[in-house]
Amino acid sequence: MLFIDLGTRDIRIEAVPSELRRKFLGGRGINMTLLSRLYAPDLDPLSPANPLIFGAGLLTGTLGFGSRINITSKSPESGHLGDSNMGGQFGAELVKAGFSHLVIAGKSPTPAYVFIKNDLVEIRDAKEIWGRDTLDTQKRIRSELGDEKLQIACIGQAGENLVKFACVRTGMKNAAGRTGMGAVMGSKNLKAVAVRGNLDITISDPKGYLRYYLSQLEKLMGTKWAIALGKYGTPLMFKNSNLMGFLSYKNNQYTSAGALAKGLYADVLETYSTGMVACFGCPVHCRHRIAIREGRYQGTVEEGPEYASMGSIGPKLGNLDVENVLYAVELCNRYGLDTISTGTYIAWAMELYQRGMIGTDLTGMPLEWGNGDVIVELLHQIAHRRGFGNLIAEGPGPRELYGKASGDYLLEIKNFPIEMTDERLPKSFALGMATSSRGACHMRSRASIDVLGLPEEVLKKIYGGPVSNQLSSYSGKARMVWWHELFNAVTDALGICRFQSVFSSPHALQYPEYSRLIKYVTGLSITPGELKRIGERIYTLERMMLVRDGMSRQDDTLPKRYFDEPIPEGPAKGEVISREKFQEMLDQYYRLHGWDENGVPKKPTLERLGLIHEN
Ligand code: SF4
Repeated sequence: MLFIDLGTRDIRIEAVPSELRRKFLGGRGINMTLLSRLYAPDLDPLSPANPLIFGAGLLTGTLGFGSRINITSKSPESGHLGDSNMGGQFGAELVKAGFSHLVIAGKSPTPAYVFIKNDLVEIRDAKEIWGRDTLDTQKRIRSELGDEKLQIACIGQAGENLVKFACVRTGMKNAAGRTGMGAVMGSKNLKAVAVRGNLDITISDPKGYLRYYLSQLEKLMGTKWAIALGKYGTPLMFKNSNLMGFLSYKNNQYTSAGALAKGLYADVLETYSTGMVACFGCPVHCRHRIAIREGRYQGTVEEGPEYASMGSIGPKLGNLDVENVLYAVELCNRYGLDTISTGTYIAWAMELYQRGMIGTDLTGMPLEWGNGDVIVELLHQIAHRRGFGNLIAEGPGPRELYGKASGDYLLEIKNFPIEMTDERLPKSFALGMATSSRGACHMRSRASIDVLGLPEEVLKKIYGGPVSNQLSSYSGKARMVWWHELFNAVTDALGICRFQSVFSSPHALQYPEYSRLIKYVTGLSITPGELKRIGERIYTLERMMLVRDGMSRQDDTLPKRYFDEPIPEGPAKGEVISREKFQEMLDQYYRLHGWDENGVPKKPTLERLGLIHEN
């Protein structure tokens, strides 16, 4: 673990204690223990005392199934737990330089960047690159250090200007997008972390690992899911959500754009593709490189966009112009703006404008649904904190200014905005959003396989108890969410991508495969049951930080619209969340976790997980 204090310039290296590895594995798991030691309600997320923690998964840097890194801190956007998972090459490079965790504290007096090359660690001057976008920043650092193979995680203008939902970016589009980690970086005057590593990564049983890896590779790449993902990327999910009626359209006033959305389907996007790329060592390669060769947005070149970005900058804003969406997403990438939060805050303002609750005297322009020029102008304003964009840059902040009733139209949970979907139809998605430990988020627990309507015997085998295969049913969905919360925590602690796991295919990696991969790579024997307990430990530790912030049952809820407004039209017409059934799901969910009726972990649960001293 590498500790850097940007204020005192102190640089320190410590070995990862083996007990910590056994209890939390790595990545998100160890990040949480590091954060929890300093986490307090009065810790200001933008103060030098707030640590910014990078944590590569235990398997990150190894062939095939280890590419991810988590960035963790207290969030300036939500005001509580911040954490975001990032793909690309950066995590693997950090491990190759000898570090699995990097903890940055303090604040540099002037703009700086950190350069790591194996055991060489430097804090360097970043005055020349301050003010640059994320692509230009990476290009300039590579040129300054004369090394094209450097992997760089950096912020754009949004992070520098402390936009509450600024992200950290690496490569063309990989992002630790959510919870404002880029603003934390900006508050430290830290423009980038540049890494180059060429140390060996020791594998306990290389031959055994290679054999096992190849067998798992064959299995994964034979699934319909991986084949489709490798051809279309995540936008393939867009069509499903539109056809089934769980897509956010015009700030969730509607949940499908019907035939109007066809222009954003994956086969249309494919016409802009110049090829597919992948994160470190990943066989799935789910990312399109795209180029717009003519017309108004000619010259746009980017990677992606992901389903989440497309949905958030597209239909959520009533924007169905594919080229405008591609251009606007690329602009977010360059500025270092989280596309999901950006979309939700703009959608909020657009609905307030539609309802006459705010006007052009405040916004400076008509916030009409689907107006691509307005969207692009707002992105410039947000990143540079100009005009009305300066208000949007405050995230959920301007509720008071917009008017007392405005809060009803900001779709958020735990002060954190929801995403590109609407959860009134899929009840497992709804509960997962409500209980997520970082506020509204699909990555903490979403069981995408719920949309497949798998035979209930298959679901029972995975989840260890009865689960309905009806998307709109409440039955067994608490179990599903609880199971994925634990499983996803382990997945992040290992550095494995959701898309290689049982997230979307019952044939993808599960605990038994994780256990064997760990054994081959590290020599550690950790049974599937122990892994599940590690997931429980990580998730419960996250919960304890929220409890420290004063959160409990009343915060595990959904936007008012989900309870009070049945979906007005489209394929999921009439779907709504029953308050009573939602509370029943919550009771079942707390019981499965061993938390009390207020959602507070019980003492025996903390004892069983060895978390008493962490409390
Ligand atoms: S499936 Fe896609 S996002 Fe996941 S590691 Fe592979 S390339 Fe990256």
